[in-house]
Amino acid sequence: MQVKQELKQEKGTTGVFRKEKEGFNPFKMAQQQFDRIADQLNLDEQTRELLRNPLREYSFSIPIRMDDGTIKVFRGFRVQHNDARGPCKGGIRFHPQETQDTVRALSMWMTWKCSVADIPLGGGKGGIICDPHNLSEREQEKLCRGWVRQIARDIGPVRDVPAPDVMTSGQHMLWIMDEYETIMGGQYPGLITGKPVELGGSRGRTEATGYGIIYILRELLKEMKMDIAKTTTSIQGFGNVARYSAELLLQYGGTVVSVSCWDQVENRTYSYYKKTGIKLDELIKITDRFGTIDKKQAEKLGYENRPGDDWLTQDVDILIPAALEHSITEENVNQIKPRVKIVICGANGPVTPEAEDYLEKKGVIVVPDFLANAGGVVCSYFEQVQSNQNYYWTKEEVLGKLDNKMTDAFYKVWELSKRKKIRVSDAAYMIAISRVAEACKMRGWV
Ligand code: NAD
Repeated sequence: MQVKQELKQEKGTTGVFRKEKEGFNPFKMAQQQFDRIADQLNLDEQTRELLRNPLREYSFSIPIRMDDGTIKVFRGFRVQHNDARGPCKGGIRFHPQETQDTVRALSMWMTWKCSVADIPLGGGKGGIICDPHNLSEREQEKLCRGWVRQIARDIGPVRDVPAPDVMTSGQHMLWIMDEYETIMGGQYPGLITGKPVELGGSRGRTEATGYGIIYILRELLKEMKMDIAKTTTSIQGFGNVARYSAELLLQYGGTVVSVSCWDQVENRTYSYYKKTGIKLDELIKITDRFGTIDKKQAEKLGYENRPGDDWLTQDVDILIPAALEHSITEENVNQIKPRVKIVICGANGPVTPEAEDYLEKKGVIVVPDFLANAGGVVCSYFEQVQSNQNYYWTKEEVLGKLDNKMTDAFYKVWELSKRKKIRVSDAAYMIAISRVAEACKMRGWV
């Protein structure tokens, strides 16, 4: 069942919460990132004030009758950071340590991601403080419906479009859509994305994030005069993002020598290495739905079973961290081999700022997460477009349009980075922030 399946997302995405517990505030970090680029862009005070805070925030109670007959009151959120370029877009998270500041930070990052990908959407994020591991399916459905009842008039296809996120799935989205349609009295499939294909989802969404990474990598390699078919890559993770990155990279003739995963049984990580390159089909056959590769079977197929961090120390051209945040840090960055030319971030926040500084000094190009993994949100935008027009594209059409969008986004960032001699992530932030600032100006907001 989808509801259960999506709980897997928790592992890869709890870092923000973990760090917040340790006194780290993700919203303060997002504001600091913004302030640094705002200085470089010479943004005026009013624009800064507008963009360093969300436009609107909602925080509300959701009373639910539990399966045992008692009433429990949950806390729900929605933050709409900015909609100057289009309706807000962003996930709904179920998490026991959800906080308003986490949601604020994530909504701001969504604004920059949509902007750098140049899709006509703004940034939003929402959540409910709850642990779905301890909730029945019926209770989760009630929570979804309760969330919509509190916010229905402030979301919608032309206002704010939610999506699945940590510990929420296509099933949660359908409950939300159904309740919204009941309240509004009509069909509104464009309210929400991440729907199953049979009920208005987009073909190609499964591949979108991984393929988007490789579309950008393909163009970057052209710029670096490197033949993609002669490159070697090592990948952290073997979930959705890692697998589809590997799939397209292999189709382009590249070699992937190592992938890694979290072993659910042994509670530790492993890397799987094959000098001649992995074969995707055979590895997928022995991987469970949480992205864990069967150790014994992998050994039988000739994969060397190595420690979890081994993926990082491969003598390859490209590293793709595609598992979780904080994977390349100041503690391990010096283990990266001199041959590595590119680190392209599939996961959210896999390279710490200190590690990025180190890599840039060594001449390694780091492609930031909000550009590299934007393929997912671009495809969600395509889903919204298809849902709104009630006409659905083939997978080939979706992937072709995705390729165009990602390629365009990359070249805008790359050209600025070359012209101003700045790192790729700074160029990406500059483009994202200046587009939103310009939209606010054109609307007469500042
Ligand atoms: P997933 O749950 O499908 O796969 C995660 C993989 O990482 C699994 O193979 C798991 O075994 C592995 N893993 C977990 N901890 C690990 C560790 N310590 N070392 C090595 N491997 C480890 O997740 P996903 O959808 O592929 O997402 C991966 C990352 O990409 C997350 O940071 C997610 O937020 C981000 N992301 C995903 C999408 C998307 O569309 N799926 C979009 C944007 C960003």
